[in-house]
Amino acid sequence: MLEAGHSHRTWDVLTQMPAALRMVIGNSLYDRRYASEPEPHMDARRVNHERDRLLVGSSSINGVISKRGNPRAALERWASDPGTEVWDCARCLPFSKRMEPCVAETCEWRGQGAARELRQSVPVGYDTGERLPGHSVETGGEIPAWFAQDAETAYHPSCAARLSTDQLSVPYPEPPRPHGVERLRVVAAPAAPSFDNANIYAPVTRPAEKSTESSLGSTPLPPFTAGFHHYRAQEV
Ligand SMILES: Cc1cc2nc3c(=O)[nH]c(=O)nc-3n(C[C@H](O)[C@H](O)[C@H](O)COP(=O)(O)OP(=O)(O)OC[C@H]3O[C@@H](n4cnc5c(N)ncnc54)[C@H](O)[C@@H]3O)c2cc1C
Repeated sequence: MLEAGHSHRTWDVLTQMPAALRMVIGNSLYDRRYASEPEPHMDARRVNHERDRLLVGSSSINGVISKRGNPRAALERWASDPGTEVWDCARCLPFSKRMEPCVAETCEWRGQGAARELRQSVPVGYDTGERLPGHSVETGGEIPAWFAQDAETAYHPSCAARLSTDQLSVPYPEPPRPHGVERLRVVAAPAAPSFDNANIYAPVTRPAEKSTESSLGSTPLPPFTAGFHHYRAQEV
Protein backbone atom coordinates (compact mmCIF):
# COMPACT_ATOMS: atom_id res chain seq x y z
CA MET A 1 0.00 0.00 0.00
CA LEU A 2 1.31 3.47 -0.88
CA GLU A 3 0.98 5.72 2.15
CA ALA A 4 2.83 8.96 2.90
CA GLY A 5 0.87 9.81 6.05
CA HIS A 6 2.47 9.59 9.49
CA SER A 7 1.27 7.30 12.27
CA HIS A 8 -1.40 8.22 14.78
CA ARG A 9 -0.26 9.30 18.21
CA THR A 10 -2.43 7.80 20.89
CA TRP A 11 -2.24 10.96 23.02
CA ASP A 12 -3.46 13.19 20.21
CA VAL A 13 -7.10 13.85 21.01
CA LEU A 14 -7.48 16.02 17.92
CA THR A 15 -7.48 12.93 15.72
CA GLN A 16 -9.80 11.01 18.00
CA MET A 17 -12.51 13.57 18.49
CA PRO A 18 -14.74 14.22 15.46
CA ALA A 19 -15.73 17.62 16.82
CA ALA A 20 -12.07 18.69 16.66
CA LEU A 21 -12.07 18.92 12.90
CA ARG A 22 -12.20 22.71 13.01
CA MET A 23 -8.92 22.63 14.98
CA VAL A 24 -7.03 20.47 12.50
CA ILE A 25 -8.22 22.01 9.24
CA GLY A 26 -5.54 24.36 7.98
CA ASN A 27 -2.97 23.03 10.50
CA SER A 28 -0.07 21.70 8.43
CA LEU A 29 0.66 18.95 11.00
CA TYR A 30 -2.61 17.33 9.96
CA ASP A 31 -3.73 18.93 6.73
CA ARG A 32 -1.82 18.95 3.45
CA ARG A 33 -3.48 22.30 2.75
CA TYR A 34 -3.91 21.75 -0.96
CA ALA A 35 -5.63 24.37 -3.07
CA SER A 36 -6.86 24.13 -6.62
CA GLU A 37 -5.50 26.08 -9.55
CA PRO A 38 -7.46 29.30 -10.14
CA GLU A 39 -10.89 27.99 -11.12
CA PRO A 40 -12.13 29.60 -14.34
CA HIS A 41 -15.81 29.20 -13.40
CA MET A 42 -15.36 30.28 -9.77
CA ASP A 43 -14.17 33.84 -10.21
CA ALA A 44 -10.62 32.49 -10.69
CA ARG A 45 -10.52 31.59 -6.98
CA ARG A 46 -8.24 28.86 -5.64
CA VAL A 47 -10.53 26.47 -3.79
CA ASN A 48 -9.17 24.77 -0.65
CA HIS A 49 -8.82 20.98 -0.75
CA GLU A 50 -8.21 19.92 2.83
CA ARG A 51 -6.50 16.49 2.90
CA ASP A 52 -5.13 14.52 5.78
CA ARG A 53 -1.43 13.90 6.51
CA LEU A 54 -2.03 10.78 8.59
CA LEU A 55 -2.04 7.06 8.08
CA VAL A 56 -5.40 5.84 6.75
CA GLY A 57 -6.19 9.18 5.22
CA SER A 58 -8.79 11.85 5.72
CA SER A 59 -10.93 9.66 7.96
CA SER A 60 -8.35 10.52 10.66
CA ILE A 61 -9.57 14.11 10.72
CA ASN A 62 -13.03 13.93 9.23
CA GLY A 63 -16.32 14.67 10.94
CA VAL A 64 -17.37 10.98 11.04
CA ILE A 65 -20.72 11.76 9.47
CA SER A 66 -21.58 8.47 7.82
CA LYS A 67 -24.22 8.35 5.12
CA ARG A 68 -24.84 5.55 2.73
CA GLY A 69 -26.36 7.95 0.25
CA ASN A 70 -28.74 6.72 -2.40
CA PRO A 71 -26.93 3.68 -3.75
CA ARG A 72 -29.29 3.26 -6.64
CA ALA A 73 -28.84 6.84 -7.85
CA ALA A 74 -25.07 6.71 -7.45
CA LEU A 75 -24.17 3.16 -8.38
CA GLU A 76 -26.47 2.57 -11.31
CA ARG A 77 -24.93 5.68 -12.81
CA TRP A 78 -21.42 4.33 -12.14
CA ALA A 79 -22.35 1.09 -13.81
CA SER A 80 -23.92 2.62 -16.88
CA ASP A 81 -20.66 3.09 -18.83
CA PRO A 82 -19.38 0.14 -20.88
CA GLY A 83 -16.92 -1.86 -18.76
CA THR A 84 -18.13 -0.50 -15.42
CA GLU A 85 -20.98 -2.98 -14.90
CA VAL A 86 -19.34 -4.58 -11.84
CA TRP A 87 -19.91 -1.34 -9.89
CA ASP A 88 -23.67 -1.68 -9.95
CA CYS A 89 -25.87 -1.55 -6.88
CA ALA A 90 -26.41 -5.33 -6.76
CA ARG A 91 -22.69 -5.99 -6.38
CA CYS A 92 -21.74 -2.98 -4.20
CA LEU A 93 -24.60 -2.57 -1.74
CA PRO A 94 -23.72 -5.81 0.14
CA PHE A 95 -20.50 -4.06 1.24
CA SER A 96 -22.52 -1.16 2.69
CA LYS A 97 -24.70 -3.64 4.52
CA ARG A 98 -21.69 -5.43 5.94
CA MET A 99 -20.04 -2.21 7.09
CA GLU A 100 -23.11 -0.73 8.73
CA PRO A 101 -24.21 -2.55 11.84
CA CYS A 102 -27.75 -1.47 12.54
CA VAL A 103 -29.47 -0.97 15.87
CA ALA A 104 -32.88 -1.27 14.26
CA GLU A 105 -34.40 -4.55 13.12
CA THR A 106 -32.43 -6.33 10.42
CA CYS A 107 -34.03 -5.96 7.00
CA GLU A 108 -33.05 -6.58 3.40
CA TRP A 109 -31.61 -3.05 3.13
CA ARG A 110 -29.75 -3.02 6.42
CA GLY A 111 -26.89 -4.99 7.95
CA GLN A 112 -27.17 -7.31 10.91
CA GLY A 113 -28.47 -5.87 14.15
CA ALA A 114 -25.70 -4.73 16.55
CA ALA A 115 -25.94 -4.57 20.31
CA ARG A 116 -25.05 -0.89 20.46
CA GLU A 117 -25.35 1.36 23.28
CA LEU A 118 -27.88 4.10 22.55
CA ARG A 119 -26.87 7.24 24.33
CA GLN A 120 -29.47 9.67 25.53
CA SER A 121 -29.38 12.60 23.19
CA VAL A 122 -30.42 16.16 23.82
CA PRO A 123 -32.52 17.61 21.00
CA VAL A 124 -30.74 20.49 19.35
CA GLY A 125 -32.88 23.39 18.21
CA TYR A 126 -32.00 24.99 14.91
CA ASP A 127 -33.17 27.96 13.00
CA THR A 128 -34.87 26.93 9.77
CA GLY A 129 -34.45 30.37 8.24
CA GLU A 130 -32.29 30.73 5.13
CA ARG A 131 -28.67 31.54 5.94
CA LEU A 132 -27.07 31.24 2.53
CA PRO A 133 -27.18 32.87 0.08
CA GLY A 134 -29.59 35.13 2.01
CA HIS A 135 -31.97 37.76 0.75
CA SER A 136 -29.38 39.68 -1.24
CA VAL A 137 -29.49 36.84 -3.80
CA GLU A 138 -32.98 36.39 -5.15
CA THR A 139 -33.06 35.91 -8.92
CA GLY A 140 -31.95 32.98 -11.06
CA GLY A 141 -29.31 35.24 -12.59
CA GLU A 142 -27.80 36.13 -9.19
CA ILE A 143 -27.39 32.56 -7.99
CA PRO A 144 -24.57 31.48 -10.38
CA ALA A 145 -22.62 34.64 -9.52
CA TRP A 146 -22.99 33.95 -5.79
CA PHE A 147 -21.98 30.35 -6.38
CA ALA A 148 -18.80 31.42 -8.21
CA GLN A 149 -17.86 33.72 -5.32
CA ASP A 150 -18.72 31.42 -2.45
CA ALA A 151 -18.83 27.71 -3.34
CA GLU A 152 -16.29 25.26 -1.93
CA THR A 153 -15.94 21.46 -1.83
CA ALA A 154 -16.89 21.29 1.87
CA TYR A 155 -14.04 18.72 2.30
CA HIS A 156 -15.47 16.42 -0.39
CA PRO A 157 -13.39 16.85 -3.55
CA SER A 158 -14.05 13.84 -5.77
CA CYS A 159 -14.53 12.42 -9.27
CA ALA A 160 -11.50 14.21 -10.80
CA ALA A 161 -10.02 10.95 -12.15
CA ARG A 162 -13.06 8.78 -12.74
CA LEU A 163 -12.80 5.11 -13.56
CA SER A 164 -14.02 4.04 -16.97
CA THR A 165 -12.77 2.64 -20.23
CA ASP A 166 -12.79 5.82 -22.33
CA GLN A 167 -9.78 7.97 -23.13
CA LEU A 168 -10.57 10.67 -20.55
CA SER A 169 -10.73 8.23 -17.67
CA VAL A 170 -7.73 7.56 -15.40
CA PRO A 171 -8.30 4.16 -13.75
CA TYR A 172 -9.58 1.21 -15.72
CA PRO A 173 -12.79 0.00 -14.01
CA GLU A 174 -12.15 -3.63 -13.14
CA PRO A 175 -9.86 -4.23 -11.50
CA PRO A 176 -9.49 -0.50 -10.78
CA ARG A 177 -5.94 0.30 -11.90
CA PRO A 178 -4.30 3.07 -13.90
CA HIS A 179 -4.65 2.34 -17.62
CA GLY A 180 -1.65 0.35 -18.78
CA VAL A 181 -0.43 -0.52 -15.24
CA GLU A 182 -1.19 -4.06 -14.21
CA ARG A 183 -0.32 -4.52 -10.55
CA LEU A 184 -1.48 -1.31 -8.91
CA ARG A 185 -5.01 -0.75 -7.62
CA VAL A 186 -6.56 2.69 -7.23
CA VAL A 187 -9.58 3.16 -5.02
CA ALA A 188 -10.19 6.67 -3.78
CA ALA A 189 -12.69 9.49 -4.01
CA PRO A 190 -11.20 10.88 -7.25
CA ALA A 191 -11.83 7.57 -9.04
CA ALA A 192 -15.57 7.67 -8.44
CA PRO A 193 -17.50 8.55 -11.60
CA SER A 194 -20.11 10.41 -9.55
CA PHE A 195 -21.66 10.71 -6.11
CA ASP A 196 -25.12 11.62 -5.03
CA ASN A 197 -25.55 14.32 -2.42
CA ALA A 198 -24.47 12.36 0.68
CA ASN A 199 -21.17 12.82 2.53
CA ILE A 200 -18.77 10.60 0.66
CA TYR A 201 -16.63 8.73 3.16
CA ALA A 202 -18.98 5.73 3.43
CA PRO A 203 -19.60 5.65 -0.34
CA VAL A 204 -15.79 5.70 -0.91
CA THR A 205 -15.25 2.88 1.56
CA ARG A 206 -17.80 0.66 -0.20
CA PRO A 207 -15.81 0.24 -3.47
CA ALA A 208 -12.57 0.14 -1.46
CA GLU A 209 -13.82 -2.93 0.42
CA LYS A 210 -15.09 -4.55 -2.76
CA SER A 211 -11.86 -3.94 -4.62
CA THR A 212 -9.67 -5.16 -1.76
CA GLU A 213 -11.62 -8.37 -1.50
CA SER A 214 -11.49 -9.06 -5.22
CA SER A 215 -7.72 -8.36 -5.26
CA LEU A 216 -7.30 -10.89 -2.45
CA GLY A 217 -9.35 -13.42 -4.41
CA SER A 218 -12.16 -13.59 -1.83
CA THR A 219 -15.51 -15.01 -2.87
CA PRO A 220 -17.76 -12.05 -3.80
CA LEU A 221 -20.56 -11.27 -1.38
CA PRO A 222 -23.94 -12.51 -2.64
CA PRO A 223 -25.55 -9.82 -4.80
CA PHE A 224 -28.27 -7.59 -3.42
CA THR A 225 -31.49 -8.57 -5.12
CA ALA A 226 -34.29 -6.67 -3.40
CA GLY A 227 -36.38 -4.44 -5.64
CA PHE A 228 -36.29 -0.68 -5.57
CA HIS A 229 -39.23 1.52 -4.83
CA HIS A 230 -39.73 4.32 -7.30
CA TYR A 231 -41.57 7.40 -6.21
CA ARG A 232 -43.94 8.66 -8.85
CA ALA A 233 -45.96 11.77 -8.18
CA GLN A 234 -49.08 10.49 -9.97
CA GLU A 235 -49.31 7.47 -7.64
CA VAL A 236 -49.73 9.65 -4.54
C1 LIG B 1 -11.78 17.90 7.41
C2 LIG B 1 -12.59 16.85 6.70
C3 LIG B 1 -13.85 16.48 7.19
C4 LIG B 1 -14.61 15.52 6.52
N1 LIG B 1 -15.78 15.10 7.08
C5 LIG B 1 -16.44 14.06 6.52
C6 LIG B 1 -17.57 13.50 7.16
O1 LIG B 1 -17.97 13.89 8.26
N2 LIG B 1 -18.24 12.49 6.52
C7 LIG B 1 -17.84 12.02 5.30
O2 LIG B 1 -18.51 11.11 4.77
N3 LIG B 1 -16.74 12.50 4.70
C8 LIG B 1 -16.02 13.49 5.29
N4 LIG B 1 -14.88 13.95 4.70
C9 LIG B 1 -14.49 13.38 3.41
C10 LIG B 1 -13.84 12.00 3.51
O3 LIG B 1 -13.07 11.86 4.70
C11 LIG B 1 -12.96 11.83 2.26
O4 LIG B 1 -13.76 12.07 1.12
C12 LIG B 1 -12.40 10.42 2.17
O5 LIG B 1 -11.65 10.12 3.33
C13 LIG B 1 -11.54 10.35 0.92
O6 LIG B 1 -10.92 9.09 0.90
P1 LIG B 1 -9.72 8.86 -0.09
O7 LIG B 1 -9.27 7.47 0.14
O8 LIG B 1 -10.10 9.28 -1.47
O9 LIG B 1 -8.58 9.91 0.33
P2 LIG B 1 -7.86 10.11 1.73
O10 LIG B 1 -8.68 9.51 2.83
O11 LIG B 1 -7.50 11.56 1.82
O12 LIG B 1 -6.55 9.21 1.62
C14 LIG B 1 -5.45 9.60 0.82
C15 LIG B 1 -4.22 8.87 1.39
O13 LIG B 1 -3.14 9.08 0.49
C16 LIG B 1 -1.99 9.40 1.27
N5 LIG B 1 -1.10 10.20 0.41
C17 LIG B 1 -1.23 11.49 0.03
N6 LIG B 1 -0.22 11.83 -0.79
C18 LIG B 1 0.56 10.72 -0.95
C19 LIG B 1 1.74 10.44 -1.69
N7 LIG B 1 2.33 11.37 -2.44
N8 LIG B 1 2.24 9.18 -1.62
C20 LIG B 1 1.62 8.22 -0.88
N9 LIG B 1 0.50 8.44 -0.15
C21 LIG B 1 -0.01 9.67 -0.19
C22 LIG B 1 -2.51 10.19 2.46
O14 LIG B 1 -1.61 10.16 3.57
C23 LIG B 1 -3.80 9.44 2.75
O15 LIG B 1 -3.63 8.36 3.63
C24 LIG B 1 -14.10 14.92 5.33
C25 LIG B 1 -12.84 15.28 4.84
C26 LIG B 1 -12.08 16.22 5.52
C27 LIG B 1 -10.70 16.56 4.99
